[in-house]
Amino acid sequence: METHATLIIGAGLTGLSCAYHLAGDYLLVEREGEPGGMARTHERHPGFLCDSTGHWLHLRSDYMKALVRKLLPDGLVEHGRKAVIHLCDTFTPYPFQANTYGLPREVVLECLIGLLEARHPEDFGLSPAAAAPRDFREWIVRNFGEGIARHFMVPYNEKLLGVRLEELRPEYAERFIPRPSLEDVVKGALGFSRESLGYNARFVYPREGGIGGLPRAIARGLQVPPVYNVAVTRVAPRRRVATLSDGRQVVYRRLLNTAPLPQFLSLLLDLPAEVQQAARQLRSTTVRYFDLGVRGPGDAASHHHWIYFPEPEYVFYRTGSYSAVHPGTAPPDCRSYYVEMSGGAADLLKQPEQLKQRVLSDLRKARVLSSRDEVLFMKLCEIPFAYVIFDHNYERSRQVILDYLADQGILSCGRWGGWGYGGMEDAMQDGKTSAEQITRGRTS
Ligand SMILES: Cc1cc2nc3c(=O)[nH]c(=O)nc-3n(C[C@H](O)[C@H](O)[C@H](O)COP(=O)(O)OP(=O)(O)OC[C@H]3O[C@@H](n4cnc5c(N)ncnc54)[C@H](O)[C@@H]3O)c2cc1C
Repeated sequence: METHATLIIGAGLTGLSCAYHLAGDYLLVEREGEPGGMARTHERHPGFLCDSTGHWLHLRSDYMKALVRKLLPDGLVEHGRKAVIHLCDTFTPYPFQANTYGLPREVVLECLIGLLEARHPEDFGLSPAAAAPRDFREWIVRNFGEGIARHFMVPYNEKLLGVRLEELRPEYAERFIPRPSLEDVVKGALGFSRESLGYNARFVYPREGGIGGLPRAIARGLQVPPVYNVAVTRVAPRRRVATLSDGRQVVYRRLLNTAPLPQFLSLLLDLPAEVQQAARQLRSTTVRYFDLGVRGPGDAASHHHWIYFPEPEYVFYRTGSYSAVHPGTAPPDCRSYYVEMSGGAADLLKQPEQLKQRVLSDLRKARVLSSRDEVLFMKLCEIPFAYVIFDHNYERSRQVILDYLADQGILSCGRWGGWGYGGMEDAMQDGKTSAEQITRGRTS
């Protein structure tokens, strides 16, 4: 038995940030051999640095901006987003709702009329909605109208999540979806592009080493380094004892979990029936993606940062290019991509070779690859817990679980520990807030 004031599960950005901001004794345990969790970078092929799909830093708070700059001595490079939507065999800039110019005229008309109906129903002889939207589909139609919903928002989100949008809470993804003014929408329909809308219009990325440079830098700055290749395998919350995969038992005063909530709950002894029931209600998606490296001339759509594909005839819902954002992530004359697939591709996943051929053929059809590009590698990867499904049970189930854990002296936060939709800055902020909570709890 060893004793620690705080036991932290996971050296992703949340766990690392907690350890970094914590005053006092802790043990940080990570089951993998290096820090970073989802924010790790892998050298998939000599000279090709690939993150776990695109991991771009959208920093909002001054504190986090300063911290990240301090941690990364080689610095950050700032980028302006170059993202597009592929629809009706053409590309329009993201966000779709403010950039319909270039689509077939009847699509543009349907989107514009739909938006006008949604914003000014009385002009169309419609009564304004009496109650708040009941689900995410209704939220979309209420904010953007039937045309934008039908052509992009509904098919894209259903392809991404593999569920009907009526199953989701109305405010799902609200923070991430820009709601342009009528003026912006009209300008976008006429070709006066308003591309710079939204939370990710500008972002930063490490100059060297991929996104994995950030967690590695935090880990280097810790007073006590993480213990790698060791997992927490069992937790007895009443006795406040955790068992580790190397056989050690750790007595803790506070525990911070950052592992996906369903996985963590499966480690806990004596879970009350109500909490078990709530745990069964938690839903999430699995994302499979290819990391892909090519050498060759490319085609018209090779150099976009990322591309959304709402149409079902394309097997992927999004592609992105590490090297288009940051050329240093691929060797000279080469390009690298991530190609993301969700539930809809499940049948094809049973035949990996056919899936590869289908992906390559769809990428050529979309003019991301040219037939003269030489494929250097193509690796299929999986993110078992990618997107939490914010269904109508979400809020209650999550609260039952987090309240129970809090009663046991356990904090659970980060994107998957807190079962939310946060980005890397949110993860670092969650870690910092938990450290402050733990420190306050100890001194009060
Ligand atoms: C497809 C996709 C794209 C994304 N793109 C972006 C983006 O562009 N920008 C952005 O800001 N954010 C992005 N994110 C979100 C970002 O990845 C997360 O917010 C962030 O990495 C979460 O960090 P975390 O520490 O909470 O979780 P993780 O990174 O999952 O860390 C948890 C750690 O716990 C470890 N662990 C698990 N179980 C145990 C155990 N039993 N014992 C010990 N260790 C354990 C894991 O190995 C892992 O290292 C994206 C996410 C996804 C899914």
